Amino acid sequence: MIKPDAVRGGHIGAILDKINAAGFKIVAMKMTQLSKATAGAFYAVHKERPFYDELVSFMSSGPIVAAVLEKENAVDDFRKLIGATNPAEAEPGTIRALYATNVGENAVHGSDSDENATIESNFHFAGCDVFAD
Ligand code: ATP
Ligand code: MG
Repeated sequence: MIKPDAVRGGHIGAILDKINAAGFKIVAMKMTQLSKATAGAFYAVHKERPFYDELVSFMSSGPIVAAVLEKENAVDDFRKLIGATNPAEAEPGTIRALYATNVGENAVHGSDSDENATIESNFHFAGCDVFAD
């Protein structure tokens, strides 16, 4: 997902360029807005964390771009491309170093495992809207 801060900042195109340049294939994509309920469900794994309410408010605060990406080793390579959760710790040139505001408003989300990538793809897209090989 391109998060609400990066959409508001006008960074959709630049972020998609970096994703393509890094060799990812976009196989599904849409702009949408999460409600508090759907943002809460998406990040339910963080329910007990102190930042959960802030995260849910932020993620539902404006439109996002959801996409499904395909590549060998996609989960690890995408996390390298986006950089550390806290942009202050993200490698120069990574998407978060370039476009994130702070540890909460950090421009992009990436799945943390192949299993969660499938769950998150199903969260946003019907099977007929995913053009995977
Ligand atoms: P994401 O899951 O969004 O790709 P991540 O895997 O790098 O990010 P997680 O630990 O899964 O990081 O946290 C999920 C999201 O919760 C972060 O991307 C950020 O938006 C928010 N978050 C994490 N830690 C904090 C914090 N200390 N304060 C505020 N928000 C936070
Ligand atoms: Mg995560």
